Amino acid sequence: MVEFILNDKLIKTPLPKGMLLVDFIRENAGFKGTKTACREGDCGSCTVIEGTPAGKVVKYKAVASCITPLGNVHGKHIVTIEGLSNAEISPIQKALVDSAAIQCGYCTPGIVLALTAYALSNKTYSFNNAKEAIGGNICRCTGYKAIEKALVIITRNLNSINTKNKLKDLIDNGYLPAYFSQIVERLKSIKRPAIKKNAHKIVGGGTDLFVQNPETLYNSELIFYSDIKKLGKISRKDNHFSIGAACKISDLEQYNSFSEKIPRFSEFLALIGSKLIRNMATVAGNIVNASPIGDLSIIFLALDAELFINSAKKQTRQIKLKDFFKEYKSFDLCDNEFIESINFDIPESGFYFNFEKVSKREYLDIASVNSAIGIEIEKDKIKQVHISIGGVAPIPLYLRKTSGFLKGKQVSEETIKGAVEVLLTEISPIDDVRGSSEYKRLLAKQLFFANFIEIFPERFEKSLITKKV
Ligand SMILES: Cc1cc2nc3c(=O)[nH]c(=O)nc-3n(C[C@H](O)[C@H](O)[C@H](O)COP(=O)(O)OP(=O)(O)OC[C@H]3O[C@@H](n4cnc5c(N)ncnc54)[C@H](O)[C@@H]3O)c2cc1C
Repeated sequence: MVEFILNDKLIKTPLPKGMLLVDFIRENAGFKGTKTACREGDCGSCTVIEGTPAGKVVKYKAVASCITPLGNVHGKHIVTIEGLSNAEISPIQKALVDSAAIQCGYCTPGIVLALTAYALSNKTYSFNNAKEAIGGNICRCTGYKAIEKALVIITRNLNSINTKNKLKDLIDNGYLPAYFSQIVERLKSIKRPAIKKNAHKIVGGGTDLFVQNPETLYNSELIFYSDIKKLGKISRKDNHFSIGAACKISDLEQYNSFSEKIPRFSEFLALIGSKLIRNMATVAGNIVNASPIGDLSIIFLALDAELFINSAKKQTRQIKLKDFFKEYKSFDLCDNEFIESINFDIPESGFYFNFEKVSKREYLDIASVNSAIGIEIEKDKIKQVHISIGGVAPIPLYLRKTSGFLKGKQVSEETIKGAVEVLLTEISPIDDVRGSSEYKRLLAKQLFFANFIEIFPERFEKSLITKKV
C-alpha cells in the first residue's frame, strides 16, 4: 500500500509503487490540472508540490510528477493545482493574470505550483530566486517577459510575508488554503513502509531510472532509498564531510558548511538540471548512473571522495571514487551492494575548488565537457591537487597523470602549460551529439585553464584560454 495525502485527501492505494505519480493524479484521482508533455522531467508542466514531514514542520518543494514513482511519495503531502483552490485565486495566480503572463495556460499550473513551493520553502525572496524556482518550467507561447513582470510583483508581495510564522501568514494572505495547517499532524498517522531486503532495483530520486525505463519499472520490486532516514543525512566533523547517499542535490545547496569551505559551491550545483530536478536527484543516483558527464561525479572526483559501500550482509567497504568507475557504465558495485555515503576532507587552509561546465544551454542541459579541480597550496607550491574531467572518456575521468605532474610545483603559466600537454595524453574523446572529438579536446584544454584562471585571477590572464600551446 502506498499512503499519502493528495491535496486535502488521504490516499491509500494498492497500485504498483513503480507507477508514475502524474498518471495516478490524472487517471486515478482525476485531477487534470497536472499536465503531461515531455515525460522526462524537462518541461515542468507536470510540476506538483511535495511536502516531507520534518519534525514539527513539513518541508515543501516542487518536483516533476512525470518521473516520480508512487513509492517515492509514501508518507508525504502532494499538492496539485486543484489543491490550491480557495475562495479567491492566490496572489501568485493574480500576479500572473495581471501581468498577462498566461496565454494557452498549459504550463501555468506548473508555474503556479513551482512558485508556491518557492513561497513555502525559501528563506528570502528575490527576483533571481523566483526566476530560478521556475527554471524548470518551459513556456512556449506566453513569452518570458510577461512572466518576469509577474515575478517582480510576486517578489514584492512575498517580502511582506512574516517568515517566522510563514505557513500561517501564507494561509492568512490567501496563498494557501486553510487545510495546509493540519497536514503536519495528519502525516503522523502514516507509518513508514517496511524496507524490502531483496528488492529488484534501488530507486533514489528516480530522475534517471524513470526517464529511461518507466514501463519496465512499473511492476518491478523496487526499494526506495528516500525512505531510509540515515541515508539522507549530511554531517561534518572538523574538516571531514559525509553525505548520505540519498541526499538530494538541493540538500547540498542548502548546507552552509560547504559554502564556508567552497564559497561558490551552490553556484556550481545550480548548473545541474533545474531546481525541479535538483529537488529530486540524489547524490548516489548521479554516481551510479555513471554517465561520463555526470556533474556530481566530476565534482566529487576533484574532492578525492571516498564511497562507503554497504551490502545486505551489512559489511561496509570503502573505495575511492577515482577507482570506482571501470568502463562505460560499469563500476565496482556488486548486485547486493549499495552506496551508503560519500566522504571527503577539505583541508583547513590553502584550499581552492572550481567547477566548469560547457553545454549547449547554460542551464538545464547536460555537459559537452565538464571539469573540476581541488587544489591545496602551501608555501606557494601545490601540496595536493585532484583534477577531473567529463565527456572525454568512457567514464567520469580522474586525471591521475596530470594531477601527479602538478604536485609539488609552483602555480605558474609554465607549469600549467606543461600539465595541459599531459592532460591531452590522458583523454580519449569521441564524436557524438555533444560535439566532435576535436572540439572536446579543445574544451578539455580550455576548461583546464579556466579552472586555474578562476582560482588564481591575479596570476593568469583570461586570454590564456585561447592561446595555442
Ligand atoms: C531533466 C533532467 C536534467 C538532468 N540534468 C542533469 C545535469 O545537468 N547533470 C547531471 O549530472 N545529471 C543530470 N540529470 C541526470 C540525473 O538527474 C542525475 O544523474 C541524478 O543525480 C540521478 O539521481 P537519482 O537519485 O534521480 O537517480 P535514480 O534514477 O534514482 O537512480 C540512478 C541509478 O542509481 C542507482 N542508485 C541510486 N541510489 C543508489 C545507492 N544508494 N546505491 C546504489 N545504487 C543506487 C539506481 O538503482 C539507478 O541505477 C538530469 C536528469 C533529468 C531528468
